[in-house]
Amino acid sequence: MMKLTIVGCSGSLSGPDSAASSYLLQAPYQGRIFSLLLDCGPGAMGALYRYIDPREVDAIALTHLHADHCLDLCGYYVAARYSPNAPWPRRPVYAPANAASRIALAYDVPTTDAGISEDPFIAEYLDWRTWQPSQRIGPFTVQTIPVEHPVEAYAIRVQEDVSGGTMVYSGDTGPSEALLRLATGVDLLLVESAFLDDADNPHGMHLTGRQAAAIGQAAGVGTIVLTHIPPWYEPDRVLAEATPHFDGPVALAKPGAVWDIGGV
Ligand SMILES: [Zn+2]
Ligand SMILES: [Zn+2]
Repeated sequence: MMKLTIVGCSGSLSGPDSAASSYLLQAPYQGRIFSLLLDCGPGAMGALYRYIDPREVDAIALTHLHADHCLDLCGYYVAARYSPNAPWPRRPVYAPANAASRIALAYDVPTTDAGISEDPFIAEYLDWRTWQPSQRIGPFTVQTIPVEHPVEAYAIRVQEDVSGGTMVYSGDTGPSEALLRLATGVDLLLVESAFLDDADNPHGMHLTGRQAAAIGQAAGVGTIVLTHIPPWYEPDRVLAEATPHFDGPVALAKPGAVWDIGGV
């Protein structure tokens, strides 16, 4: 069984009641609990201390490099280097290409012409890996697929090997056939729903609750969890727009909410 904990779910920026995007996936592995952090948006590092000593995070995965999904890696670095139990073990960070230089710039450390940080934190504290279509991360098989967003962005499918439990996290995306294929038959779809139906929404950016639910319905998923709702929208309105379009349970992501995926 794997356990999904919502660390932060506010869309596009942090919100009054939540950090920006960040989700903790945990499962038994080699006699202990393996922890994979999906995205690390503003406020996520502080919120993470509620659920785990962040030093124990085994791996980090970034869907894309928009600020609301990655900037608290700067906070991770500060804790990994300067907190009382520092230095932390060097952990893999799965991300789009150029993530290392992106975070170095965010922290305002020097970069070379090649875009590689001269500051030791990039290499010593974070082990950058470029996303592959499929990779093994601890107890998980993790697949990615490009989705519809203005920058290189991925949806992530995670399968826990012992139970066979499956979940897909959409990252940020507009309507996407690729997301539908990736999510086919999964137990839980954690899906962004940043837009309202009646707004003048740009294309290739985000989903409405209705669109998110329709993808889950077509993909035959077990449960839908709506997330990435920005602070200027009322989550219950997004939920109301989504619910009629999916036959199974539809929930709103909330900080601290937990789902057990895959039984056993
Ligand atoms: Zn976002
Ligand atoms: Zn984005």
